[in-house]
Amino acid sequence: MKVLRNRGVRWVLLMTGLVAIIALTGMNVLSLYDLRDRMVESEEERRIDQLDEINDTIRNQIISPLRGLSKIELEPIESSIQQTGELPENILEVLAKSSESPYFNDIYFTPEGTDPCDENSTIYKYDPSQNQINPTDDFPQLVCGGVGLTRTKTQILLNDFNFRWNNNFEFDTHRSANIGLINPIENRMLGVLTLTLDEEYIINEVFPPFLTNYFGKSSESGIVVWVRDWTSDEVLATNDPSVSYDRDLVDHRMGFSGSGFFDNWSLYIAFLQSPVTNAYNATLVKNLVVLGVAMLFLTGALIFMFVTAQRERQLAQRQASFLANVTHELKTPLAVMQAAGENISDGRVTDPVRLKQYGEHIYNESIRLRGMIEKLLDVARVDSGQNMIKAAPYKLHDLLSTYLSENRDYFENKGFEIKFKSNDEASLTMIDRGNFETILSNLTENAIKYSTDDKYIEYQVSANDDNVFFSITDHGIGIPKRAQKNIFKKFYRVEDSDSMSTKVKGHGLGLSIVKNMVEMNGGNIEVKSTPGKGTTFVVRFPKLMKEEVQAEQVQSSAEDSSSKQTINNQTEYVG
Ligand code: ADP
Repeated sequence: MKVLRNRGVRWVLLMTGLVAIIALTGMNVLSLYDLRDRMVESEEERRIDQLDEINDTIRNQIISPLRGLSKIELEPIESSIQQTGELPENILEVLAKSSESPYFNDIYFTPEGTDPCDENSTIYKYDPSQNQINPTDDFPQLVCGGVGLTRTKTQILLNDFNFRWNNNFEFDTHRSANIGLINPIENRMLGVLTLTLDEEYIINEVFPPFLTNYFGKSSESGIVVWVRDWTSDEVLATNDPSVSYDRDLVDHRMGFSGSGFFDNWSLYIAFLQSPVTNAYNATLVKNLVVLGVAMLFLTGALIFMFVTAQRERQLAQRQASFLANVTHELKTPLAVMQAAGENISDGRVTDPVRLKQYGEHIYNESIRLRGMIEKLLDVARVDSGQNMIKAAPYKLHDLLSTYLSENRDYFENKGFEIKFKSNDEASLTMIDRGNFETILSNLTENAIKYSTDDKYIEYQVSANDDNVFFSITDHGIGIPKRAQKNIFKKFYRVEDSDSMSTKVKGHGLGLSIVKNMVEMNGGNIEVKSTPGKGTTFVVRFPKLMKEEVQAEQVQSSAEDSSSKQTINNQTEYVG
């Protein structure tokens, strides 16, 4: 019950851990995306702000020479024009400065009461060479529009009686800058200065360097900006002429701000695949990769810890059941021996036949007990690393032949058919003979234990350039695929409820001892098995090379010459 609860808790913890990792990772991924989007967004906002900057700068550059006007007293204008036909000095100074500005072509003055929309009217034109205004009836039509607009708007301002300034500035789209000059004391207009804008200059000289400086080539910045006259559907300037204006590309449109300033013109910005966005994407990908790897490591570590804990629990369980089994197994023969010995020593059994039987019981049980104790000692030795190897050169063929002929009766009694196939009689390998016998007897015992009706065992010896192999094949119950990787583990037993191996007695130690001894002797062991058909264990040992042989004493030939009943190749033994 407790075990079950513990296992449940472990699973819950594992699942909680995994869910936490997934949730954290998910949150991180989302926030990374969010961060990327914010960065891209703020980058785009910064670029849009640059459009504003361009707009303000151009506007300031246009207005800059006219700034002094607001501080000038304008009352004397009328009398000045009436008396001298000239504007006062301080206004002429402003006009001289303005005439130097490349933004303006010509400067006109239209006194209040004069109608510039009438071609026959006479207005004034500023002559920078003389720094004076001269009457003219040759003025462009656009003065009419600028003056009309300025008069109307100024009149609205004057009508509310709160207007405190001496001028009102109006742009007539991109054609002219107009300044309505005002007498604030008398609350009336004195006239309009019209500065015609040099449209060509603005389009060809002002916009292109601005756009290029701010946004560069679209191939580098990923940004295209167009200045467009939306009334005529005409692109006036752009930072990259190779990309033609396309309404669908446009991400943001901005009009020029200010009263009538470039009214017909707009700025359009398109964010193509910008390198900045690409850089953010690359950072995002890098972050995602690091996150993914970290998550994999974390998940792997969690699962590893979980699996290790499971394994350790299973091992502890197997050890516990092994201890219980061993105690039981040791007690049984002891109990038999004790009872038989007691009966004999009591003198209760006197009949020679029965005495013999009791003696046999004691003998057999002591053999069983000894076998078990030896196995336990093997495990203890292997565990403590005290299994000292006394290796010498042997021929596997000879060792196996000897083993088979010594155990011939044993196999016969068990009803087993034994086959020995060898195609290598000469190769030598360095092994500990005692170890080899333990290996052989464990594998043979298993072949016998796990066989049912088809009592057949086949031994084979072979060699290649570097190795000597021996294999043992039975036609027994076989080992399920999923169990095959575990059978060499200490205390492991195949325990299917319906499997016959569950009914066979054992402690799950034999193969772990075998594997350990094979490896201590420089070899390895593999299993091939088909459930219901049988099992083959293949053991490999390194071959002793000629030059090595000379240095070693060939013990096996000496020992094996005494047992000359060596079994020939392909000899069949029928038990
Ligand atoms: P055991 O004392 O249980 O036989 P082993 O370590 O020798 O312990 O074997 C481990 C398990 O491997 C056995 O419990 C058995 O299920 C399986 N096994 C070993 N050898 C064979 C075989 N020749 N045929 C079928 N199953 C085998």
